[in-house]
Amino acid sequence: LADRLNHFSDSVIRRMTRIANQYDAINLSQGFPDFDPPAELVTALKLAADNGPHQYEITWGSAEFRQLLAKKQQKLMNINIDPNENVLVTCGSTEAMMCAVMTVCNPKDKVIIFSPFYENYGADAILSDATPIYVPLIPPTFEFDKQQLRDAFAQGAKALILCNPSNPCGKVFNQQELDYISQLAIEFDAYVITDEVYEHLVYEPHRHLYLASFPGMQERTITCSSLSKTYSITGWRLGHIIADKKIIDGCKMIHDFLTVGAAAPLQKAACAGLAFDDEYYAQLTQTYSEKRRLFLEGLDQIGLSYYEPQGAYYVLVDISAFNPFETDFEFCEWLIKEVGVAAVPGSAFFKEPEYRYIRFHFAKKEQTLVAALARLSKLK
Ligand code: GLN
Repeated sequence: LADRLNHFSDSVIRRMTRIANQYDAINLSQGFPDFDPPAELVTALKLAADNGPHQYEITWGSAEFRQLLAKKQQKLMNINIDPNENVLVTCGSTEAMMCAVMTVCNPKDKVIIFSPFYENYGADAILSDATPIYVPLIPPTFEFDKQQLRDAFAQGAKALILCNPSNPCGKVFNQQELDYISQLAIEFDAYVITDEVYEHLVYEPHRHLYLASFPGMQERTITCSSLSKTYSITGWRLGHIIADKKIIDGCKMIHDFLTVGAAAPLQKAACAGLAFDDEYYAQLTQTYSEKRRLFLEGLDQIGLSYYEPQGAYYVLVDISAFNPFETDFEFCEWLIKEVGVAAVPGSAFFKEPEYRYIRFHFAKKEQTLVAALARLSKLK
C-alpha cells in the first residue's frame, strides 16, 4: 500500500465515538448535537424527498444554495461575493479544506498549522504531498509567538491554515492577531485557508472577525465553512468555499473529480436554513452560551481546571492532577468504561507529545450535559 498511509492515523475523534458507542457512554468526544435541526429544514427535506431533486446538481452547488449563501455571507464578511464566481459548495468543510490545500499546494510546499489543531489539517497537507510546519498556540492562553510565526512564513510557506474559532481550544483570534497574520501573509505572498465552521458560536465579549475582510486579504484568503454546526446538520455533509474567482476556479476542478458534488436533495433542503434572518443566528449563539455556562459551571463544581473557550463548543480540561494514567488516551478509556463519559484525548490535537488535556464538547441537550456532569462528579 501507499507510503502516505504511514504518515497519519485514523481520526482519534471518530475512534472515540466508536468506543463510546461500544460502552454506551455519554458521548462528549466527537462534536455533534444530540438535538434536531430547525423544523424548517426537516420539513424542506421531506418536500425534497417527495419532489426532488434526486439527480446530480450542478457540480459547483445549486444556484439557489449559492445565491442564498452569497447573500448571507456577504453581509457578515463585508466583501462582495458573486454566487457564480466566488462560491463552491462541498461535502462538508472537510472536503472544502482538502480541496483548498490541493488547489494551492505543489508537492513539498510547506503549510503552516497552529498546534493544537483539528486533526484533519495534518492529513490534508500529507494527502496533498505538502509538508506541515507546526507553530504552537502556547497553553494556557493559546497565544502564538510572533517571531515563531514569522520564522515559519520565512521558511517559504505556501499557506497557513487558520481555524477560527479554534477547535479544540476555543480560541477566537482577535483583531491584532489577525492583523499580524495578514501582514505576514502579504509580506511572504502566502495564502490563508480558514476553517470558520464555528463562525456563529462566539461568546461575549469576543467577536468573530473574518480574515477575508482584512485589507489585502480577500485575494489570498480561502474561506472554508460548513452548515453542520450552524444548522445542527453534521450528517448532511454540506460545506463551502468562498474565495477569489481564480482560486475558486481551481477548487472547482479538484472538487469536480473528488466528489462530483454535494447531495442534491440536501442542498435543496438546506436552503430553508440559508434563508433565515439574523434572529436565528443570534438565538443560536444564545443557546450555545447557555450550554457553555452550564457545562463550565459543572466543571467548576467538580473542581476541574480548563481553558475557558471564547468560541466553538469544546473545552480542553487539564487532567494533569489525575495520576497514575500514563497517557490521556488511557485516561479517556478509563473515563468511558468507569465513569460513562467519552472525551477526546488532547494529544490527538497537538504536534508535540502533550498528555495534559482531554477535550469535551457541549453541543448537547441540557439534560445530556446534566447527566454527563453527574457522572463526572466521580472525579471530585
Ligand atoms: N469537528 C468535530 C470534532 O472535532 C467533528 C469532526 C468530524 O468527525 N468531522 O469533533
